[in-house]
Formats: sequence, C-alpha cells, structure tokens
Amino acid sequence: MTAPVTTRSSADLIRAEEPVLAHNYHPLPVVVARAEGTWVEDVEGRRHLDMLAGYSALNFGHRHPTLIEAAHRQLDLLTLTSRAFHNDRLAEFAERLAALTGLDMVLPMNTGAEAVESGIKVARKWAYEVKGVPADRATIVVAAENFHGRTTTIVSFSTDETARQGFGPFTPGFRIVPYNDLAALEAAVDETTAAVLLEPIQGEAGVVIPDDGYLTGVRELTRRKGCLFIADEIQSGLGRTGRTLAVEHEGVVPDVLLLGKALGGGIVPVSAVVGRRDVLGVLRPGEHGSTFGGNPLAAAVGTAVVELLETGEFQRRAAELGVVLRGGLSALLGKGVVGFRARGLWAGVDIDPAAGTGREISERLMREGVLVKDTHGSTIRLAPPLTITTEELQGALGALEKVLG
Ligand SMILES: *Cc1c(COP(=O)(O)O)cnc(C)c1O
Repeated sequence: MTAPVTTRSSADLIRAEEPVLAHNYHPLPVVVARAEGTWVEDVEGRRHLDMLAGYSALNFGHRHPTLIEAAHRQLDLLTLTSRAFHNDRLAEFAERLAALTGLDMVLPMNTGAEAVESGIKVARKWAYEVKGVPADRATIVVAAENFHGRTTTIVSFSTDETARQGFGPFTPGFRIVPYNDLAALEAAVDETTAAVLLEPIQGEAGVVIPDDGYLTGVRELTRRKGCLFIADEIQSGLGRTGRTLAVEHEGVVPDVLLLGKALGGGIVPVSAVVGRRDVLGVLRPGEHGSTFGGNPLAAAVGTAVVELLETGEFQRRAAELGVVLRGGLSALLGKGVVGFRARGLWAGVDIDPAAGTGREISERLMREGVLVKDTHGSTIRLAPPLTITTEELQGALGALEKVLG
C-alpha cells in the first residue's frame, strides 16, 4: 500500500491549519491520510468507518476500483481541452447520463452550486423566451429549510441565517414557501413563475422526507400552471435512496434535474443540469459556460459512474441495506434516539438532547471509529457508501447504541 505523504502528527496538522486556513468549517479532530471502500485511515494509522461518505459524494466508496481505473486511463490520455474544442469523452457521458435519467440534454458543470446557478439561469431564460414573462420579472419558488449551495444568489433564498448573515445584498426573484405544503406552493406560483426548485428529500435540513403524493402534486401543479419543476438531486440522487433518483419513488419526471456530488465518483468535481430539449435548448453559444465543465477527465469519471448505476446494483444495495438501517434505528427509539427519517441508505437521526448534542455524539462516535456529521443542533446524518456491508452497518449501529447508552 502507498505510504501517506506527510510525516507530521494529527495534532500538529490540526494546529497548523488554524492560522492559515479560513475558519468556514469546524471539522471533527481526525486527519485522514488514506482510504479504501468504506474505511478511512488517519495519519496515525487508526481506521474509521465512513458513515458520511463526503455528504454523498462518495456513494461508491473511496477509490472504487472501476472509477480509479477510468481516471488513471484518462490521465494518461487527455485531461482538459476547454469547450473551445470538442473532446472525445463528452458525447458518451452526455448520452449515457441522459439515458440514465430519462431526459434529453446535459449541461456539464463542476460543483453542485454551479449546477443550481445554471438551472436558475436556464429557467429564467426559458421563462422569457418560451413562456413570455416580461423582462426581469421572472420568479422562482423555493422551499424553506432548503440547501442548494453557497453562492450569493443561492444564499439569497436560504432560510438559514448563518448562511446569509453578512452576505447581502441578495439576489431578488425568489419566493419561499413551506416545504411539503402544496397549498402554499399553489398560492405562490403565478404567471411570472419560471420554476419551482426543490430537493425531493431535504438533506441538510436533516433528511426531511415529504408526504407521499407531494412530489406528484408538485409535478401536477407545475404542469398545470405552465412552469418548470427543477429537482435538486445533488445529494438525494445517484442511488442514495434505493433508486437512481429520489423522484422515482413517486414515478415523477422533473423538467430539469440537478446532479453533482456522487457524479464525480469522489475523484473530481462533476455536476450537471439535465433537462428536456425544449428547456436546455434555450442556451446558445456564449450565453453560459465553464472552463472546466465537461472536461475529459470529468467526463471519463462521470461515464464510469453512470456505468456503475446502469447495473442497478447500488440502488438495490441501498434499498436492501436501508431495511437494516431502519430496523437498527427503530430499536434505538426511546434509547437516546427520539425520532428518525430514513430512505435507502440515508437517515436523519434526532438525538435526545439529554444524551448529548449532535456534535458530542459525532465526537463520541469518532472515538469508536465511526465518522458521522451533525446537521442541525441535535440531528446527525447517516449516509454511508452504498458499498457498505451488512456487518459494517450493524457495527456502526452498535457504536451508536454504545455512545447513546
Ligand atoms: C451539496 C449540495 C449542493 C451544493 O453542492 P456543492 O458541490 O457543495 O456546491 C446543492 N444542492 C444540494 C441538495 C446539496 O446537497
């Protein structure tokens, strides 16, 4: 096995970050030096089970052999052209991603926030050119407690004060309605509405799953009112919930789909706006772009990710192991867990405040060799790689039981 590059200790590296690294994160005190599959190893050689999986960017685990091979092969051929020229990997990536999602066209970008920004731009342009909304009057309806990224426009329609405070002035044109409330959505959508932008399951809010029928209702409402339904599946998509997409649980096909995180296989940032031809078709040369979007390394890794998902194996594992996860969490109800929401291999677990804050539970789990992250206050999120085994999952649940006891 390849030896880690650094010879410095964890404590030394954590201390060294403080004066030179912006303090926009508060990481758990673990310094990871290498990883494989569901396990990460710190610089002292201690192993930890990764129950966060890079916020679902590592759905296939660390360094999945198929993905690493695709990346290595591409590194030896071609890494970047910019879109000033064609590259020989992009057509296949777009073809297969469109086929996987049942949509027509792909706009390749890099990060999730860029996919969201791009989706907003496309929806606005569609509203002016196709729907006939008067210039600069387009609105986009979003849900309270959303998480769509960190750019100035995106935090403009966040309801999280920590994400907004001090970053104004904000971008106008957004209306915020309660999540999981069709009547409120109906009241907010009018003739200026370009799109309704939602997470089919709200990840950062604590894996909040809407009532059955909500997504179907959003689809029906947006069709009837003549606006787009944009589903942000950057965290919920690509196998996490036991289906390729979370909207599939209700058989819903959005007009525009936003993908990211796991699309890059945990190797490179890859995101995409995927949509119907009559929507993405509004973009013409020069109107939007990205230097790195659609680069051949990203396309090669993204294509390999789509190939893994085409087998259905990961969706099936998430569904089957999801039963184990729900069973284990049910057994902890009343024993330090006051409630949980789960779909596939994804759960938001509300911890009894008497047992500790989400942060404290995360720190105790770290000492047991299990890595998780708190979301809000007393909620922790479990989102292991979809390659996790039943035994590993049961080990994580056992560790949770222990630290709550
Ligand atoms: C993570 C996330 C984003 C932003 O992705 P970045 O790659 O961090 O910019 C957007 N939407 C959802 C639902 C996410 O979970």
